[in-house]
Amino acid sequence: MLHKKSVLDAFEKVDRSLFVLPEYRSVADADEALPISCGQTISQPSLVAKMTELLNLAENSKVLEIGTGSGYQTAILAELAGEVFTIELIPELHETAKKRLDSLGYTNVHAAVGDGYSGWPDEAPFDAIIVTAAPPVIPEALTTQLSNGGRMVIPVGDSEQMLCLITKSSDGLIQVENIFPVIFVPMRHQKTTHDQ
Ligand code: SAH
Repeated sequence: MLHKKSVLDAFEKVDRSLFVLPEYRSVADADEALPISCGQTISQPSLVAKMTELLNLAENSKVLEIGTGSGYQTAILAELAGEVFTIELIPELHETAKKRLDSLGYTNVHAAVGDGYSGWPDEAPFDAIIVTAAPPVIPEALTTQLSNGGRMVIPVGDSEQMLCLITKSSDGLIQVENIFPVIFVPMRHQKTTHDQ
């Protein structure tokens, strides 16, 4: 797969071995998905690159990421965009990723614990939205929070998922394009007190 130079440069700057579990550090350079804590996975670099490229980021882009995970994709976005807002459902993953991104000096990253199905309404609209866990259908709150002219990349589906590119035209019309089949962890709903 050929990638844009700006995206390749971002990959040069971010050391993936700092984002994986210690036992996988020696294979961090391989183009493979790897397990992270809490039963989640970090995607293979070629897929991270493809998804990043589809966002067409500019230096001043405001980006929303759902599924911080290890923070690897967050760091790549932070190299290319103006501001990155990232939401993670699992507090433990959020804490570790936040510490990691702070220690690497990413001052343009804003990380929060929460349910990505609601997006980040106070900071909307976003020029780009990237979702790295798969919901069964495209969450409406996220399409609403996409700016006119904005782009969203999201895996959609249950057992069979499709990577989708959603574009919003300058007059607010939504278009959905199927890119290719993918496998992501499911996007879950935050537990309410009724579930506990
Ligand atoms: N992009 C990450 C990998 C993410 S794996 C990286 O580069 O490491 C998917 C992540 O989405 C997991 O950490 C999972 O906990 C999180 N997730 C699942 N459902 C979510 C939701 N509703 N809101 C926010 N995060 C969610």
